Amino acid sequence: MSDQTGHGTVEFDVIIVGGGHAGCEAAAAASRMGARAALVTMRADRIGEMSCNPAIGGLGKGHLVREIDALDGIMGRAIDRAGIQFRMLNKSRGPAVHGPRAQADRKLYREAVQQFIADAGVTVIEAAVGDLIVEDGTCCGVIAEDGREWRASAVVLTTGTFLGGLIHLGSEITPAGRVGEAPSNALAERLRALDLAVGRLKTGTPARLDGRTINWDALEMQPADDPPVPFSTLTDRITVPQISCGITRTTAETHRIIAESLHLSAVYSGQIAGQGPRYCPSIEDKVKRFADRESHQVFLEPEGLDDHTVYPNGISTSLPRDVQDALVASIPGLEKAVILQYGYAIEYDFIDPRSLTRTLELKALPSLYLAGQINGTTGYEEAAAQGLIAGINAAMRAAGGMAGDRTGDKGEFSLTRAEAYTGVMIDDLITRGAPEPYRMFTSRAEYRLLLRADNADQRLTDRGIEIGCVGEERRKAWLARKDSLNAATTMLQAASALPKALQAHGLPAPRDGGRRSAADMLALEGITIGSLTGLWPELEAIDHSLRPQLEADCRYAGYLERQRADIEALHRDEAISIPPDFDYGAVGGLSAEARDVMMRLRPQTIGQANRLPGLTPAAVVAVLRHLKRDGADSMAAAGQA
Ligand code: FAD
Repeated sequence: MSDQTGHGTVEFDVIIVGGGHAGCEAAAAASRMGARAALVTMRADRIGEMSCNPAIGGLGKGHLVREIDALDGIMGRAIDRAGIQFRMLNKSRGPAVHGPRAQADRKLYREAVQQFIADAGVTVIEAAVGDLIVEDGTCCGVIAEDGREWRASAVVLTTGTFLGGLIHLGSEITPAGRVGEAPSNALAERLRALDLAVGRLKTGTPARLDGRTINWDALEMQPADDPPVPFSTLTDRITVPQISCGITRTTAETHRIIAESLHLSAVYSGQIAGQGPRYCPSIEDKVKRFADRESHQVFLEPEGLDDHTVYPNGISTSLPRDVQDALVASIPGLEKAVILQYGYAIEYDFIDPRSLTRTLELKALPSLYLAGQINGTTGYEEAAAQGLIAGINAAMRAAGGMAGDRTGDKGEFSLTRAEAYTGVMIDDLITRGAPEPYRMFTSRAEYRLLLRADNADQRLTDRGIEIGCVGEERRKAWLARKDSLNAATTMLQAASALPKALQAHGLPAPRDGGRRSAADMLALEGITIGSLTGLWPELEAIDHSLRPQLEADCRYAGYLERQRADIEALHRDEAISIPPDFDYGAVGGLSAEARDVMMRLRPQTIGQANRLPGLTPAAVVAVLRHLKRDGADSMAAAGQA
């Protein structure tokens, strides 16, 4: 890939700055929407680079990847071409919180992403952007540090950890966007001058080890799932060879070394001002915060099939080199391990995401969109999901008029908390900001049973087709799959039997003597379509790839109905008044945070409460239920009187 545009001003519909996970998804999405998209990034050969851990997915994050895939994004298909250890996390728990994860061959992942960008027809330009072109109060292009400029109707910034990036390794401080790459200082200055709320965050990465110097024989090994389950519904099966990872643990000696050297860590010496990720702590954080824990698990993850580099997941650090040498050597299996690259922490600028709209457009500068780590998130999947939304909306704005048009008439696209984890994340970001690096968890979603990783296509692909961000191959595949799902659901509802027949096939029989359908039976713990085919042989015809989705749908049907009713009630009962002296303290199930917000802002109606920043729909439903119960009680009291 190369600079295909040469010097001078060139016209595009959408320019995306940054070829990381947010930028690639934004560029591909804008292109699928029909926009002429240009991806301006510092180094074309590092497009799709995984800056930290070589893995995609996990708890909550796997849901985001499936949602990106459902809207025809590239991350799911890229990891299916590059995954060397697929595992479904949380398998012992319900399907709603299963977390698909795959460790990646770094090189294969980059190659896959670069191929998708090329296939999408995105123009790739190698340049460091240092300035924005702003005319009539909108952003209509970018200027490279070398003076070249390009114009577009909308610009998406996805600069990751590069804005004002500073690497910390012990007491050494190096300006960098990530190891070996220059920071983006001119653009950081430009954004600060826009008078936006800019903050500092930090994150870190562990040392990389030479796998040939690890004593693998001494380690517990963790194999991949067999068969591996792909991320994308367009992938039939995984053909990349699967490998095992090693598992080891820190020791008392490791903790002693760290405790004695804490004052040398950039994080603890006061050298770093930015807030780090609470949920992805450094090993020095873990040793300090969980002082009673005798050891912490370390996963040894090979970075590729033909690469000896190993990523020791769990010991991210910014301690000085000699301390890193000692702490690695104190871990069983790593006694003689050679460090190829030392761990480090990085501090960077982020823009307070409360300055953004639901479409990730900057309120203060229309037609400039921000996505990824620049918005205070951490993680490839969080970045990619935002990139997708920003790319779609930037393309919609571009389709609504050329630069200078403040309105755009092609509408906008956003997802609600009830539709997608992507909706939950963006709502959290734009209403609550990012006081610490934001990462996705299943616990952030109120409607977990509705928002499963297995049903992302059911939730989102039709919406994607409506707005035009889903290509022909996926459209056809989804419509065929939807027909099969509908036919199978009808079959599950139609097959029914009386308790005697159920019992004869070893199935639990209802005490009320009533008939039960196959769908009813699937609501029971431990029952699968496979366990029903003895009684209803016609169910054999249901394709195995559809079964987990159908089983989960049936299992949660009752709850789903309630969740849907709650969501509908919120829309239907928007006009219901909340008395000015309403006692929020009496509402059961309301978090202290939600109570505080409502008491402070005193919304007058349910609709107003629903639009308040910082309030979840679940909190508003709790108030609505309370109001309705009170109303019913006072009517009953009036009736008695
Ligand atoms: P990036 O992947 O950082 O991509 C940014 C892109 O923008 C790059 O291609 C860069 O070249 C380009 N760019 C920047 N400025 C300019 C410019 N001015 N002009 C042109 N191009 C530009 N995530 C976790 O979930 N857990 C972790 O523990 C974790 N640790 C990390 C540790 C380190 C040291 C680093 C660097 C990152 C870590 N991450 C971690 C974060 C993860 O890498 C990011 O969340 C993810 O890559 C963000 O994606 P992005 O697309 O926003 O940005």
